[in-house]
Amino acid sequence: MRSILILGATGSIGSTCIKAITEKKLDFKINGLVSFADPKTAMLAKDFSCPYLLMNGKKDEDLYAFLDSNRADIVLNAIAGSAGLKASLSVINLKMDLALANKESIVLGGSFLFSEADRNGVKIIPVDSEHSCLYNLIKAFPDTKELIITASGGPFYDRKDTSGVTIKEALNHPTWKMGKKITIDSATLANKGLEVIEAGFLFGFPASAIKVTVHRQSIVHSIVKVRNGAFYAQLTPPDMTLPIISALSDGNLDLVDIVKPLDFTNLDLTFRSWDKNQFPLLAAAYSCLEKKQGWPIAFNMSNEVAVNAFLSERISYNRISEIVLNVLEKNWEADICCLKDIQDVMKASEEYARKEIS
Ligand code: NAD
Ligand code: MG
Repeated sequence: MRSILILGATGSIGSTCIKAITEKKLDFKINGLVSFADPKTAMLAKDFSCPYLLMNGKKDEDLYAFLDSNRADIVLNAIAGSAGLKASLSVINLKMDLALANKESIVLGGSFLFSEADRNGVKIIPVDSEHSCLYNLIKAFPDTKELIITASGGPFYDRKDTSGVTIKEALNHPTWKMGKKITIDSATLANKGLEVIEAGFLFGFPASAIKVTVHRQSIVHSIVKVRNGAFYAQLTPPDMTLPIISALSDGNLDLVDIVKPLDFTNLDLTFRSWDKNQFPLLAAAYSCLEKKQGWPIAFNMSNEVAVNAFLSERISYNRISEIVLNVLEKNWEADICCLKDIQDVMKASEEYARKEIS
C-alpha cells in the first residue's frame, strides 16, 4: 500500500483525489491532510483516521514539522497559488516525492526547485493535466522535439470585447470545474502562460519548442512531435482523476479504466490558433520563459495580485492583463540561486502590482 499526504485537501484537486480513492477503493493510505481554514478538513481526517493541519495562522515551520512527523511515500501538493512554493520545498527537503498540482511552485521556483529535488534525490511528478500527459508521452517517446499544449480557450475565446465582464461570467469555464484563481486564469489564458513556463522548466524545452493550440473540447490533453515528424497525443474526457492518481501511483498501481473511456462513435475534435492581441498574457508568458531570471516570478505574482483584486471587485476584468503587462515593463533581471532570491522578486513584483491597483 502506498502512503500519501494531501496538501490542499479541501480544494478542487484535493477533493477529486479523495473522491477517487474512496469510490474506486484505491490502495492508498492517507497519512495526513492540510488545508487553509476549512472545517471540512476535520471531518475528512476523521473519515480516514489521520491527523490534519489547518494553515490559517500557522507558520512554515508548523507545516514542516507536520510533514516530518507524518511522512509518506509521496505528497500531493494541491495548494492554490504562491503559498504552494514553501510547501513544495519542505516536501523536497524532507526527501519525499512530490505529485505537483501547484504549478506556481514550478513557475516561481524554476531551476532552483529542480536542483533542490536532484540534491535530495526526489522526483517531481506533474499533476497539471497537460504536463501529466506530456510527462508520459516524453517517457514513451524520448525523441520528442516539440510540445503542443492544448488550451480550452476559456469562456471568452469567441468574445472579442471583454470590457464589462463580470466575475460570474469569468468563472463560468466551458469544460473544467476548478478553484477560482485557476478559473480566472483560464479565461485570460494566463493559466496557459503559466503552463508554458511550467513545461519549459519541467521538461527543459526552450520557449520556441513549446506551442499552444486551442482545443475547445479539452479531450486531447497535449501532443508531442517526435523526430520523424509524427505527432502523439493522450485523450480522455476532461477529468483530473487520471493525472492525480497516475502521479500518486507513479507506476506502482495497476490503474484500470480510472476515467470513463471515450466513445469514438460521436466525437468532434477541433484545433484553432490563438491571437496574441486577444490574449496578451499568454504572449507575455512566452517572453518571460525566454528571459527567465526574475521574469516568470514577476509574471506569476503580478497576475496573482491582479486576479485577487478582480475577485474582490477592486478592479475590472481587463485591468488584470494591463496590471501584469505594466509590472513586466520593469526590469526583472536577477540571479536566482536560492529561496531568498526568489522571495525578493516575489515581494518586489507584488508591491508593483499593488501600486498599479491603488
Ligand atoms: P482550490 O482553490 O479549489 O483549493 C485550494 C486548496 O488549498 C484548498 O484546500 C485550500 O484550503 C488550500 N490552501 C489555500 N491556501 C493554503 C495555504 N496557505 N496553506 C495550505 N493550504 C492552503 O484550488 P484548485 O483548483 O484545487 O487548485 C490547486 C492547485 O492545482 C493550483 O495551483 C492550480 O493551479 C492547480 N491545478 C488545478 C486544477 C484543477 O482542475 N482544479 C488543474 C490543474 C492544476
Ligand atoms: Mg492545466
